[in-house]
Amino acid sequence: MQNIWQNIKKLKYPTLNDDLTCDVLIIGGGMSGILTAYYLNNSNLKVTLVEMNKIGQGTSGFTTGKINIIQGNTYNDLINNFGFNKAKKYLDSQLYGLSLIKENIVKNNIACNFEKTDSYVFTNDKSNVEKINKLKNFFDKTNYKTHIIKNLPINYQAIYGLKGEGYVFHPLKYLYGIANKIKGNIYENTKVINFIKEKNHYIVYTNKNKIKTKYLVFACNYPFFVFPGLMPLKLSTYKSYVWAAESLNQHFDAISIDNPNISIRYFENNLILGGFSHRTTTNINYKQNYLKLKNILKQNFNLKTTCIWSTTDVKTNDFLPFIGLISDNLYIVTGFNKWGMINSTLAGKIISNLILKKDNEYTELFQFHRALSKEKIKSLAYDSFYLTKRFISDKIKKNKDFYKECEVIKINGINYGVYTDENNQKHYAKNTCPHMGCTLIFNRQDKSWDCPCHASKFDIDGNILKGPSKNDIKKEN
Ligand SMILES: Cc1cc2nc3c(=O)[nH]c(=O)nc-3n(C[C@H](O)[C@H](O)[C@H](O)COP(=O)(O)OP(=O)(O)OC[C@H]3O[C@@H](n4cnc5c(N)ncnc54)[C@H](O)[C@@H]3O)c2cc1C
Repeated sequence: MQNIWQNIKKLKYPTLNDDLTCDVLIIGGGMSGILTAYYLNNSNLKVTLVEMNKIGQGTSGFTTGKINIIQGNTYNDLINNFGFNKAKKYLDSQLYGLSLIKENIVKNNIACNFEKTDSYVFTNDKSNVEKINKLKNFFDKTNYKTHIIKNLPINYQAIYGLKGEGYVFHPLKYLYGIANKIKGNIYENTKVINFIKEKNHYIVYTNKNKIKTKYLVFACNYPFFVFPGLMPLKLSTYKSYVWAAESLNQHFDAISIDNPNISIRYFENNLILGGFSHRTTTNINYKQNYLKLKNILKQNFNLKTTCIWSTTDVKTNDFLPFIGLISDNLYIVTGFNKWGMINSTLAGKIISNLILKKDNEYTELFQFHRALSKEKIKSLAYDSFYLTKRFISDKIKKNKDFYKECEVIKINGINYGVYTDENNQKHYAKNTCPHMGCTLIFNRQDKSWDCPCHASKFDIDGNILKGPSKNDIKKEN
């Protein structure tokens, strides 16, 4: 699974081999877990972070790394759902998050290709022009400077849009730069599989050991538990595709609000084209989705491919991330809706402030326990509908195998995905996700079995690569 960010020297941390006791345990070494550990540096608390694979190899290592304030259609969604004041509060939070990123980079002298850009949001769909006007109106009222545009600074059509200020960076260099400054302990290849509450502390079970902690932070992109909080009812997963190609460098980034959406940025001598984002429960023909993106690259740019990749992110059903307390000393960070660069730094700050009992102006905005709203109910209904449809139709029909090198067969009543490699060797993995029982789909690009319901991912021999599943799907004997 190569991508453009992976071409740097990796940091290495030990595996946890003994039981331990700490004050704060953070689960997940992505951007949000690493930033939370960092912001607890100057406390007297003993902080431990555990990562089931290597740090920075989850969604944070496969992002497009735009530090974006305008964020597509987000503010229209927030206004529809919560009204102007909350949308304005979210804008303020993003500007605060941006200032934290700048401060972290300067204070720690992190060389991460951080660069100011012109940032565009655009449409090629006449019915979306009104949405752009509404965004402009919102930014005018909030005194955030944007300008209407009728084209992009490259040969790619945009009939209407907005231009503001943005930033881009190398996400993995930022993450490693922060990780290097963490004073607590980090353990890799240490997977959390369960936790229980005992009196005033938690006992957390990893694949080998147990950890006793007072505070527990789930920063694992999609938390694996159902209770507390009924998580699967409040979160949905989205998959997006990225295509990088050789190009002269340019100093802008852009995102469309159309369906399918397109995202553009540059890094060194590469154009990074992302998009075709979809609920993981729909559009499950990944090959077709990649090809659609490739066609855009070919038709509009005619450039030589550097690398391609895809990954998933999590969305809440009311468009605001969850950053905060879920029950006694149990904290959660998730649902960045594909705007995780600023939000993960902000999350680190908010969670550390909560643990250290310090005030933060944005704690209330992102709190987990918030009221139902019209859009939340609508989105919950949609997500549940697509999830149920996917679950039932895959159980009735044999899973579509889009690729000749893989098939689904039944052995002793259990469905197995069988992948035949270049040496004609067969690799077996159970075809059902241990998380909630959905049928897995083969992902040819990554040579993996992916869950369309909540985005767990397994290699061809059934080893878990990405949660929320905690278990492998290996074939016994
Ligand atoms: C294609 C794409 C492009 C994007 N581009 C942008 C962009 O340009 N700008 C932007 O702002 N946002 C972007 N995003 C969103 C952003 O990348 C994510 O929101 C952010 O990286 C999420 O960070 P995280 O720390 O929550 O998750 P992750 O980076 O996934 O980290 C979670 C970590 O937890 C670990 N973990 C999981 N379960 C366990 C367990 N049981 N035990 C131990 N460890 C566990 C995982 O291995 C992983 O390393 C994009 C998203 C996608 C899908």
